[in-house]
Amino acid sequence: MDWGRLQAHEREAARASTRILLVEDERRVAESVRELLELYGFCVEAAADGAEAARRLKRDQYDIVLLDLNLPGMSGHDLLDFIVAGRFDTAVIVISGETSGDSGLDALKRGATDYLRKPYAPEQLVRSIENAARKQQLERENAEVESRLIESEKLHRYIVESSPDLIYMLDKDGRFSFVNSRIETLLGYRKSELIGMHYSAIVYDADQEYSRFLFNDRRTGDRAAHNIELRLKCRDGAGRLAHQRYLPVEINAMGMYRPGDAPAPERFRGTYGIARDISERKRAEELINFQASHDLLTRLPNRFLFKDRLALAVSQARRTPQTFAIMFLDLDRFKMVNDTLGHLIGDQLLQTVSKRILGCLREGDTLARAGGDEYMLLLPQAGRRSDAAEVARKILAALRQPFIVGDNELFVTVSIGLALYPEHGENPDTLIRRADIAMYEAKGRGKDAYEFYRDDMSAVITDYVSLESGMRRALESNQFDVYYQPQVDVSTGRVTAMEALVRWRHPTRGLLAPGEFIPIAEESGLIVPLGEWVLRRACADMAEWRREKLPEVRVAVNFSTLQFEQEGLVQTIVSVLDEFGLPGTALEVEITENLIMKDMEKTVPRLRELSAHGIRIAVDDFGTGYASLSYLRRLPIDTLKLDNSFVNDIHAGGSGTSITSAIASMADSLDLNLIAEGVETEQQMNYLRSIGCNEMQGFMLSPPLSAEAAKRFVMRDPESLAGLR
Ligand code: C2E
Ligand code: CA
Ligand code: CA
Repeated sequence: MDWGRLQAHEREAARASTRILLVEDERRVAESVRELLELYGFCVEAAADGAEAARRLKRDQYDIVLLDLNLPGMSGHDLLDFIVAGRFDTAVIVISGETSGDSGLDALKRGATDYLRKPYAPEQLVRSIENAARKQQLERENAEVESRLIESEKLHRYIVESSPDLIYMLDKDGRFSFVNSRIETLLGYRKSELIGMHYSAIVYDADQEYSRFLFNDRRTGDRAAHNIELRLKCRDGAGRLAHQRYLPVEINAMGMYRPGDAPAPERFRGTYGIARDISERKRAEELINFQASHDLLTRLPNRFLFKDRLALAVSQARRTPQTFAIMFLDLDRFKMVNDTLGHLIGDQLLQTVSKRILGCLREGDTLARAGGDEYMLLLPQAGRRSDAAEVARKILAALRQPFIVGDNELFVTVSIGLALYPEHGENPDTLIRRADIAMYEAKGRGKDAYEFYRDDMSAVITDYVSLESGMRRALESNQFDVYYQPQVDVSTGRVTAMEALVRWRHPTRGLLAPGEFIPIAEESGLIVPLGEWVLRRACADMAEWRREKLPEVRVAVNFSTLQFEQEGLVQTIVSVLDEFGLPGTALEVEITENLIMKDMEKTVPRLRELSAHGIRIAVDDFGTGYASLSYLRRLPIDTLKLDNSFVNDIHAGGSGTSITSAIASMADSLDLNLIAEGVETEQQMNYLRSIGCNEMQGFMLSPPLSAEAAKRFVMRDPESLAGLR
């Protein structure tokens, strides 16, 4: 601020706020200077010697010290040194005597702001004070700006350094020019050793190729790398690169350019990137995958994983060609143990039994717990009937030894059914079914025994043929029907959708559930026309409900793999919707995750096409397959249908609870709708609600209903489901 340019009143105010300490030993002189300055409007205090001045300076803040160099006791020079050394925030104007030669210049060297030599004109004094005060003010302002800059610099450094993420910059050749300290705790490198190193030095070997243009992305804006998963190498304790240890991270990176219109190659300066540790999430996913494919009590594979391994064995055996065996095992007296001694003993017994069976097996065999006291066993190396029989005999013998559980000596035997590929079946479902039939036979014949499957064991074979031909006729003669099961948002009581479930009014066997004929329809290919019929029928019903102004609900239709793989599927669906004047949003397509994973290249574009028509996509029986959630989130999926089996397992201590809550939080973080299937009890419902899963389907709310009954269900007051809340 230049006081010369100030308005008169501003100048007055500026003077009045300038505090001056006058250091002068001659009282007469001091008085007259003070009067003079006060006349000009300054605020003046006086000190008679150096010591008093020092005291005052320590106590108060002065803008200017007017210092007479000729003082008794502490000299003016000493006081000046004291002020400069003490970093007092004040300007010093030195007044030297007529005879004191160059002591004024000397004072300037020592840190005074200005000096006047006696005698001086009053205006000279005032100008010097004003100049010093102005300089003083500027200095203060600068100091403040500087300290704010330092603060903000510190803050930025703090933010970058304390970030939970790894923050880095690469130069244009891909070498580190900056990394924050996080690298030390995350990967075990020192910051200093990375600077100048090429980024590829810390990329996990298997991801090198994949990371080539990613870590050092040159793109900016929307096209820059977003949330790309990658693995980074960790350093082990000895300081060597530990190739086996890695850290999964998610990278966001973009190019940095020198200022200019558009990012041109010659302006490329390097890359700025952030890598986030996602090992927690990965662990959660692995846990979910493990829990979804294993039985938690015995840690054996579950039925789903078993089926997968069996399917693999079948396709291998088909190519080689080769023969193998599977077994279905059912403990004979387990239920009694459970009922009389309690679940705890029952669980321990199952664990011991599992270990004993495993002890009879070879590497490469798969023992799975199929639920309750049932096991399934895949013996890919049992090429001959006698090999399989040998294993069965070994297991029977091993289980005949008593089990000691707690204080109890228990006896458990097992009934075993065997089926051979390809003699007894050429596909997984048939093999399992027939091993199961053989097991029942063994049980019926007195237990503690094994049986191979024989055709005369059941009537299923003849059924199969007759069902298949019956189904063709049934389609023509309208014996099929569609039932609807409501999906309810229990937080509002609103019906959100109806799942279409096919039924067969068999002329002699009554109403058949899909479980009895869908597998056959799938094997024979009849599922394609049947599925299309269901879709058409469901759309017709929806259109009618809409015409009658019922509350709008979606209809969810199941699609089998074979059906979903049909050429022109999307076309068919869209034209059926058009035919009934329904928008895409009226339909939800239910498919299983295994279908999605089976042939991603084909299914994913198909899903996108459906989604582009507004059709919603639900993953049925979620949790029983092997789709990784991180994969699913890249697909246009709207809903996960949590499989019955997890819901079933929701009870105190049931493994369903931990899986369910893990899935619920993943679904939430991926922004997917979650609906629980097969909700039967209030306990299950309350638990689901407690983890934020409000959409449900199950007998607790309603069984599948005929179209008429379903219509009444939709029309009822949402409040009628309020009792459930
Ligand atoms: P899904 O898609 O998992 O259908 C749910 C099944 O669970 C239905 O059996 C339903 O009746 C049953 N359910 C509903 N609530 C409960 C409950 O609280 N407890 C229990 N234990 N079960 C409950 P449904 O109708 O027998 O259908 C069986 C399967 O048949 C369906 O399983 C679906 O995969 C298939 N399916 C049904 N209709 C069709 C269809 O039109 N096309 C195709 N491709 N498959 C169909
Ligand atoms: Ca379904
Ligand atoms: Ca389901």
